[in-house]
Amino acid sequence: MYKPQDSRYEKMVYNNCGKSGLKLPAISLGLWHNFGDVDDFHTARLMVQTAFDLGITHFDLANNYGPSPGSAEKNFGKILKLDLKNYRDELVISTKAGYFMWQGPYGDGGTRKYLISSLDQSLRRLGLDYVDIFYHHRPDPTTPLEETMGALEDIVKAGKALYVGVSNYPPELTLQANEILHSSRVPFIIHQPKYNMFERSIENGLLDTLAKLGLGCIVFSPLAQGLLTDKYLTGIPKDSRAAKPYGFLKEEEVTSEKVSKAQKLNNLAQKRGQTLVQMALAWNLRRKEITSVLVGASKPSQIEDAVKCLENKDFSEQELKEIDAILLTQ
Ligand code: NDP
Repeated sequence: MYKPQDSRYEKMVYNNCGKSGLKLPAISLGLWHNFGDVDDFHTARLMVQTAFDLGITHFDLANNYGPSPGSAEKNFGKILKLDLKNYRDELVISTKAGYFMWQGPYGDGGTRKYLISSLDQSLRRLGLDYVDIFYHHRPDPTTPLEETMGALEDIVKAGKALYVGVSNYPPELTLQANEILHSSRVPFIIHQPKYNMFERSIENGLLDTLAKLGLGCIVFSPLAQGLLTDKYLTGIPKDSRAAKPYGFLKEEEVTSEKVSKAQKLNNLAQKRGQTLVQMALAWNLRRKEITSVLVGASKPSQIEDAVKCLENKDFSEQELKEIDAILLTQ
């Protein structure tokens, strides 16, 4: 029988999500990989327990996480029932809809039809009455934004989500979404974009927009799916995401250029007395616009590694320059 650590709130840092009152842990756990029905349930369960014991109160899902699609929600629902049913009010659980989920014209995109039925399915799989945050997962140019935002509004009114967010929206569309939701007082509080040392495009506009609107920002793939760890420094290990047939990171993305940069970054991290994982996460958190980094993991020790980034979060100007120089080399 799992009993959470009494010390679980001692070390984690909690940040307000934009101008809202909702606090998110600086490190959150994403269930995109390693929680599906192709994965080991015991390990998945241990990862959720480890995360909660370390003060990670936020777990991020989507309708399609698996494989098979939906199985991450089903497995997380099982873990909630087994281990965390008495702790629901200590958790922030999010899910999303926006990518392909089922056949035919109603299982993808941003229609009212899709979002409302998808969330109902997610709630059934999770065994919950509501999620804390529901996201539109990606823009859908074939559906009017008013329709998509109207669905988010009605989902909140129906009590099926407490807050709403968008993911992968460019700055201008985020502004428009905010205008629609703000005018009907919908608690739109968060954006979920990709951000890591190798992918910095949100520095060119989105982060400013979020700060201006008072929206929180939780960044996904902060470790570039594992490329910003020591995992690929000497080859592609058999048990890595790049080696797995259903992993989203492809072998050809593990380029010699990325590995060489990771090696240099790893040396710098060692000088700072931390792992590359810890330095990469601390580097993301240096931006005040960022509420939380959303890490993935395949074993509990990776979550322990990530959380230790909070022990050394500060960078000197010199270190930031060195990182930029490494990232800019060809
Ligand atoms: P990361 O960039 O954190 O990559 C996670 C992977 O890095 C792990 O699975 C593991 O790979 C490796 N790793 C993590 N810690 C360590 C460590 N200490 N040492 C060595 N390797 C390590 O994040 P993800 O790409 O997994 O994304 C995180 C979350 O973001 C997702 O679960 C999801 O919730 C969200 N997301 C949202 C998207 C959106 O469109 N909104 C898109 C993508 C993700 P390995 O398995 O090889 O061990």
